[in-house]
Amino acid sequence: MPRPAVFLDRDGTLIEERHYPVTPAAIVPVRGAGEALARLALAGYVRIVLTNQSAVARGLIDEQELGRLHDDMADKLGIVGGTYDALYYCPHHPEGRAVGYAMTCSCRKPRSGMLDLALAEHDVDLAQSCFIGDSTRDLFPDVAGVGARILVQTGHELGDTSVADFVAPTITEAVDWWLAARAEIARRQRAPAPPPETDAADAPPDAAPAQTAERPHDDTPSVNDTAPEPEAAGEPHAAPEPDAGPEEAREPDA
Ligand SMILES: [Mg+2]
Ligand SMILES: [Zn+2]
Repeated sequence: MPRPAVFLDRDGTLIEERHYPVTPAAIVPVRGAGEALARLALAGYVRIVLTNQSAVARGLIDEQELGRLHDDMADKLGIVGGTYDALYYCPHHPEGRAVGYAMTCSCRKPRSGMLDLALAEHDVDLAQSCFIGDSTRDLFPDVAGVGARILVQTGHELGDTSVADFVAPTITEAVDWWLAARAEIARRQRAPAPPPETDAADAPPDAAPAQTAERPHDDTPSVNDTAPEPEAAGEPHAAPEPDAGPEEAREPDA
């Protein structure tokens, strides 16, 4: 059965924004991030990190080192609350210099390659899920059908926030907002359905007014029910743990 998920950016969202952090010392969880992940886990969410890691293409770090940084990040988040279920990173960049990584790919956000792979590998109900990040690209503006898009203010300076359903100071408030929105939807879904049409004879005299009460759909802060569209070429790399991705900092969210 499909589960709800939260797709999280790494740098500036889960860990402090640093310019291409390539050492464990540069991997510092954002305050409240571990607790936020733990709360999402308790609420039944699959937590998936999607991160652009062009430091690999730029030759600043290799994939093995990146994997070790992600192990370190998962440990640090776990110590302060909880961690994530899966992490995918894009090691590419068109202007990179590392052989095999300097390319235009289909997985660098805002392209949806990593998201597509995550959706293929996890049974996720996208309409009940959300994207959280500090950049518009983390919110996959071209992907339809997600429950909500949330920006956090712990990373890059926010430019146009029109694609976001909510702007939160940190991941803590982002999760507060999302869980409250989901609770409201669930409450509505549990609301008694209007009585079926019955013969006038059996209908309770006073049942009628309940008719239009609430409907079991989401009117959450969200998007439409559409399916995400896969993108072309690059191959996202799945990592058992999260990774680091400092370099996207300066790019505007294309
Ligand atoms: Mg970021
Ligand atoms: Zn890529």
